Amino acid sequence: MKYTVSPYRNYTETMPRHGFLEIENLVKSYPTPDKGEYVALDGVNLTIGEDEYISVIGHSGCGKSTLLKIIGGFQTATSGSVRLDGIEIRKPGADRMMVFQNYSLLPWLTVRENIRLAVDEVLKKANRAERISIVNEHLAMVNLIAAADKYPDEISGGMKQRVGIARALAIRPKMLLMDEPFGALDALTRGKLQRQVLDIWENHRQAVMMITHDVDEAIYMSDRIVLMTNGPSAKIGKILKVPFQRPRDRIAMRNSKEYFELRNQALNFLDENFTVDE
Ligand code: ADP
Ligand code: MG
Repeated sequence: MKYTVSPYRNYTETMPRHGFLEIENLVKSYPTPDKGEYVALDGVNLTIGEDEYISVIGHSGCGKSTLLKIIGGFQTATSGSVRLDGIEIRKPGADRMMVFQNYSLLPWLTVRENIRLAVDEVLKKANRAERISIVNEHLAMVNLIAAADKYPDEISGGMKQRVGIARALAIRPKMLLMDEPFGALDALTRGKLQRQVLDIWENHRQAVMMITHDVDEAIYMSDRIVLMTNGPSAKIGKILKVPFQRPRDRIAMRNSKEYFELRNQALNFLDENFTVDE
């Protein structure tokens, strides 16, 4: 089925005044062994403000991780440009930290050492005492002081994810990139961690791009929700502005008419864009 609404509806009226991250006509294709180039992303345009929380939703395989990896500098675009603070992104940098779905902690280091390693690598100008205090501050931020000397295989999935988040935040990136950060967690842990990340973000605002499959999570956490069309040649189909004041009360929000409408807009978009075969 073909998407019939203009792909740029809602775009201009929800664009932030100051572009912090600017993605322009981004195209990414991958070579395939038998069918030539596979065009994953085909003309993505998006501008994100410096303290904006953006969620990206789209069906599996539409290119969400590809988009995040290009912003992270782990992959290069085929054409188009991505600028952070006016500077073209060409490689990974400590100004953009990634939080992955599957924790990616070093198993031979304790919780504290996993965070410390990142701090040592990035905050080279900080002295020993400053580094220790940054690590402690971020352990406390995600409630991990008691588990600081445990190894990754001695703690739960939710705790591991908190370590990943603390590690990313500890080096004070300008932008946080999260690829389905709560995807592997049970519903209860997921809800708690969403609240915790929002609390931290509300106190230390920064630009966030978070990929998620969960419409409720996107509404709860973000300022705008970017809905991607299916691949191949995926692009941004629609951008929804989330109107709720922060800090957000999940239950009050969920009971409102605006929530119901926003949720349906997102779900309908995803249904309209679901194609089983070409
Ligand atoms: P998503 O995160 O939305 O599920 P991805 O960004 O991982 O999607 O992938 C988008 C498309 O690009 C998929 O069809 C995937 O198979 C393809 N793809 C991703 N990475 C590579 C790669 N390194 N080489 C070839 N194709 C890739
Ligand atoms: Mg992905």
